[in-house]
Amino acid sequence: MQDTQLYQQILGLEHPWRVTGVVMKRERRTIEVAVECADQVWACPECRQRAHLHDYETRRWRHLDSCQFKTILVAEVPRVKCEEHGTVTVKVPWAEKHSRFTAYFERLAIDVMLECSISAACELLGISWAEADGIKQRAVRRGQARKQATAMPRLCVDEKSFGRGHDYMTIVTRADRLKSATVEYVGEGRDTQSLDGFWRSLTPEQLKSVEAVGMDMWGSYLKSTRAHLPDAERKIVHDPFHLVRYLNQAVARVRIAEYRTHKAMGDDRLKGSKQLWLYGLENLPERWQLRLEQLQNQKLKTGRAWSIKEYFRDMWTLSDGRRGAELLPRMVQLGDSQPAQAHRGRRAMLHRHLERIIQVFAHRLTNAPAEGINNKIQSLIKKAYGYRNRLRFKTDIFFHCGGLDLYPTLSQC
Ligand SMILES: [Zn+2]
Repeated sequence: MQDTQLYQQILGLEHPWRVTGVVMKRERRTIEVAVECADQVWACPECRQRAHLHDYETRRWRHLDSCQFKTILVAEVPRVKCEEHGTVTVKVPWAEKHSRFTAYFERLAIDVMLECSISAACELLGISWAEADGIKQRAVRRGQARKQATAMPRLCVDEKSFGRGHDYMTIVTRADRLKSATVEYVGEGRDTQSLDGFWRSLTPEQLKSVEAVGMDMWGSYLKSTRAHLPDAERKIVHDPFHLVRYLNQAVARVRIAEYRTHKAMGDDRLKGSKQLWLYGLENLPERWQLRLEQLQNQKLKTGRAWSIKEYFRDMWTLSDGRRGAELLPRMVQLGDSQPAQAHRGRRAMLHRHLERIIQVFAHRLTNAPAEGINNKIQSLIKKAYGYRNRLRFKTDIFFHCGGLDLYPTLSQC
């Protein structure tokens, strides 16, 4: 078999496209595959009207490597003249418009970028940072264009800070699919308008399909949801994910205060324990288990605050919703009798929002999807060493957590 025939078959090219030459450039570790179009009758790619051949444009696309050689497709692509659209380049079957990579290569690049950081992907694929970013942005645009307006029974709204300082984004997660929670919307900031954009993007059918929305006790999100979602009071839930976050913050404050008091007396028992108190009991790494036990035996204020938080966490695992709903107010009261200062403000807030907290049991909105997405986004921020650019942060969230169909379609190539 001749090399041209071999590549014709590997590339899956069909009439009118054919491989006319294969050249190996050993010193550049490159194989160039020349492709030509044999057609003489042309149609405008925009309107499909018959058009006249204007000239040819030489274009190059990076394809999947042939063994260790970079493989480049080089084609003389006809440009046609349409009365309505002017001079237009005809579509090629192996790549999308404006791309410098074949669809096969883009698919590989997307797979690699889903698994590793953008700099590692550039290194592995031998492409520039700008090229990788272009592939990623195209993939997200493609995925969003294909997205259907489906029902969204369970949602979770959350704020997320990125980069340095207090830059926030509002993130809406679809939380009804336990193993595959997806980010549906990313809004700028964390005020009422940040969430309004999401509600406005839904079709009337989608709005009707919403059964429960988990959110923080954050006034802006409550306001926005009440303004847009029919029967919102019955659907808004202050979910365990957000409640536990408040309690964790309270534990951290108690620890700092107690640590300072101890330090002034030359006591460093709490030194280096910051991370330890942030874990839930079941997730505590083995190396810290003994230390936690020792600290808990010393009847510290921090230990007490941590126990209250753990009581709350236990509540959500109850399988009997009614029992959970009965127990929760009692838990809040138990919190009231505890002397831990930092829980006081939280307790008042819990009382105020109790009804929406209890709704968790009716809706069975679990922590897992929101926490999963939160962890995924946190690891993106870590991998990117923070984001200086909002748009890039948004693109990355949709690329990794949007559940989008990112891949270009393969036609002949
Ligand atoms: Zn046209």
